[in-house]
Amino acid sequence: MLRVTRRLSRLVAAVLLAGPAALAAQDTDSTALLLAQLIRANSSNPPGHTQQIADILGPLFRARGFQVDIVPTPDSAKVHFFARLKGNGSKKPLLLAAHADVVGVEREKWTVDPFGGVIKDGAVYGRGAIDFKGGIAVFARAAMLLADRKVPLDRDVIFLAEADEEGAPMNTTWLSRQHWDKMDAEFALNEGGWIIKRDDGRVQYVSISTSDKRVMSVTITAKGTSTHASMPLPDNALVAIGRALAKLGAYETPLEFTPDSRKYFTTLAKTSTGETARLYTQLLNGTPEQRRTADASLSRDPLIHSLMRNTIAPVIVAGGFRSNVIPGSAELTLNVRLIPGSDPAALIRTLETLFNDPLLTVKMAGALAAPSPASPDTSLLYRALAAESKAQWPEAEVTPYLFQAGTDAAAWRNRGIPVFGIYPYPISTDELRRMHGNDERVSVESLRQGTEMVFRTLKRVAGASSSR
Ligand SMILES: [Zn+2]
Repeated sequence: MLRVTRRLSRLVAAVLLAGPAALAAQDTDSTALLLAQLIRANSSNPPGHTQQIADILGPLFRARGFQVDIVPTPDSAKVHFFARLKGNGSKKPLLLAAHADVVGVEREKWTVDPFGGVIKDGAVYGRGAIDFKGGIAVFARAAMLLADRKVPLDRDVIFLAEADEEGAPMNTTWLSRQHWDKMDAEFALNEGGWIIKRDDGRVQYVSISTSDKRVMSVTITAKGTSTHASMPLPDNALVAIGRALAKLGAYETPLEFTPDSRKYFTTLAKTSTGETARLYTQLLNGTPEQRRTADASLSRDPLIHSLMRNTIAPVIVAGGFRSNVIPGSAELTLNVRLIPGSDPAALIRTLETLFNDPLLTVKMAGALAAPSPASPDTSLLYRALAAESKAQWPEAEVTPYLFQAGTDAAAWRNRGIPVFGIYPYPISTDELRRMHGNDERVSVESLRQGTEMVFRTLKRVAGASSSR
């Protein structure tokens, strides 16, 4: 077990700052050392302070001739970090977006210090190792390699480490309202799809996200008679919420595929074996009965379950204020994730029909973000990413992907700018479950491979045509 001590991190800084002379073997290994350093800068959100991330990255980019620009927010310790490597301007910029904040931890459930930057057994451990400080390290190192190797560029390459992606207000949408000129690009890379490793370490598939699910909050309000707890009435608001919850527990939304999620499931059918391969094939092309059976079996994996339908998760129940009063109202909040193209109003009507309860009102809570168009897999950036993934992991299938959660890509996609998402390192399904969980980790070798792949993608998309 190697812990990144202060002396080692000075060494890391020396290696990273040294530029071209120190290249070769350290080029990509230093991605893991940079990640360890980034993990030690605790940017859990809340409060999501990202200034320390900017302090680590600033000198590394400046030393290589990037223009560094740190955008403050109304919260002084929360910043967006830009580093731009100038090209000859003949094409529009390529942007690399990586969020610098992370979610918090349940510290007692970790076997290592989640903010220690621990490297052991060939992996970097810590909060954000996968989501998304690993991405910062890979994107940053790949961009720095362009400068180190003096690759002539047709377009600027912009690296952006963002604040407030993990559900807070000063995010990229905020940034786009204030500083669109700094983030305008022809296309962007972001978090999203997966490079999934099999048990034997070989890569099964590379999924590149082209769209995200749309988040909707729904409030269900129950109205009953408020009265003395000694004389209960049938119209108890809490009981009505209970009925709604029981119905939701037994309800399942229908299967729904987008063109890209259909491609993803086709890839799963192709890269799986035996019974699993047969189930994926039946899911897409079987009889209604076969599809139902395949759905029930495959849905035991919560990720797969979420990718083929709208999901409805009850998240908050509120009601009651003292033990001898029956409250006149109670409220249930649902977190709904919609497949792109799905009609939010239709889902509300489905819920009303499901509950069929005069005590209940179902309403969308807050504003629903505009639907983002899917980014086309015919884009130069997608094609380059797919080709370089195939070159890096020849045994893998590459597919577009509908991301099951939300990201901050909407700031670009809503302006018609394609964003492609990838967690740029091979991970196993066990490691995937540790994201936002305990002992989050990514292997040093995966970081090395990811850096190579992203570097070659950047070179292919941004490199001057004469140098390719
Ligand atoms: Zn993330």
